[in-house]
Amino acid sequence: MTDERSARRLHRVAVIPGDGIGVETTEAALAVLTAATGRWGFELELERFPWGCDHYVAKGRMMPADALDRLDRFEAIMLGAIGRSDVPDAVSIWELIMPIRRRFDQFVNVRPIRRIGGVRSPLADRLAAAVDLVVVRENTEGEYSDIGGVLRQPSDDEVCLQVAGFSRTGCERVARYAFRLATERRGRVVSATKSNGLPHSMPFWDAAVRAVAAEFPAVELRSVHVDALAAAFVLEPAEFDVVVASNLFGDILSEIGAAVVGGIGLGSSANLDPTGRHPSMFEPIHGSAPDIAGRGVANPIGQIWSVAMMLRHLGEVDAADAVMASVEAVLRSGEALTPDLGGSARTAEVTAAVVERLALKGAAAAPVEMVAAGGRG
Ligand code: ATP
Repeated sequence: MTDERSARRLHRVAVIPGDGIGVETTEAALAVLTAATGRWGFELELERFPWGCDHYVAKGRMMPADALDRLDRFEAIMLGAIGRSDVPDAVSIWELIMPIRRRFDQFVNVRPIRRIGGVRSPLADRLAAAVDLVVVRENTEGEYSDIGGVLRQPSDDEVCLQVAGFSRTGCERVARYAFRLATERRGRVVSATKSNGLPHSMPFWDAAVRAVAAEFPAVELRSVHVDALAAAFVLEPAEFDVVVASNLFGDILSEIGAAVVGGIGLGSSANLDPTGRHPSMFEPIHGSAPDIAGRGVANPIGQIWSVAMMLRHLGEVDAADAVMASVEAVLRSGEALTPDLGGSARTAEVTAAVVERLALKGAAAAPVEMVAAGGRG
């Protein structure tokens, strides 16, 4: 931020609604963000980018060639969801989300999983204690390194190689983020491993995590095989504080965690470059949900939660706390729950309820400058 910007606390945020319910949940999160603006003394300049699968079908690219340069000018990126049934994941994921994560070195993917009263967990009778954990997922390498190919194709004898690449720096920096986070929480880190089945990558990961653990003597470290961890996420989720995992393991564990506390629609995620050199990106963990897209019933909470994470990242801690307090109040009261949580409220009703709670917490909102980038997409 320039001096003038930081004096005004003006934040520039790029918005990519994407596809399917991403458009609906982004709209909901923007309504909450707009309601928060000004009340806590900051201003926002939002620019929308209509990139994603529709853009691909119309123009042959998920986003324009200069997209990453344009995004680099922002402090943060809000992403909805990407995916359409007639566009292969190899295109939608690898030509939009992965290039953003990598170009901006968003090497940490933070996924909080917290049980909020008012949401009935499928394990309600077993969940005596509160679930409040954070999955810290490595986000730029590991199993999602995009190294490999198919030999002798097409033939009956074809061979596929998908190589996982783990760097010492990559493992240590995500582990360091997890340990630092644990010092601010309950001081416990569990590392997901599978050193018995993956005898090269996982001992390497384990050694890097142990080396970082030595820098944090006050934090307890346990390494647990990912299969046992998957079961423990279901059977005793309240046992966990911070869970650090490779790209694939973190992806899977966080979806299990979200399901345990009530559903995928509640899951939020922050793709962080903790050094602040590049914009970080905030998104829900769900996809574009083609089965419910356009019906106005998508749960917007995961996306709104990701906005709270974005506000915290931008230094707007009071606003972030207020957004989360409003979300919790709405869920606890049960006044507006979408069908995936057993209610009958529509996306707009949940959003309005969160905005209304937020309005009770501060003074009048300042205008938000909104720029639509449609013409340039
Ligand atoms: P994609 O290919 O884009 O990832 P998908 O359908 O494979 O899409 P999700 O979009 O994550 O995967 O959806 C999985 C299931 O969860 C679907 O049945 C969907 O309707 C449901 N779902 C996902 N997100 C939400 C949400 N925000 N609110 C309600 N239901 C949701």
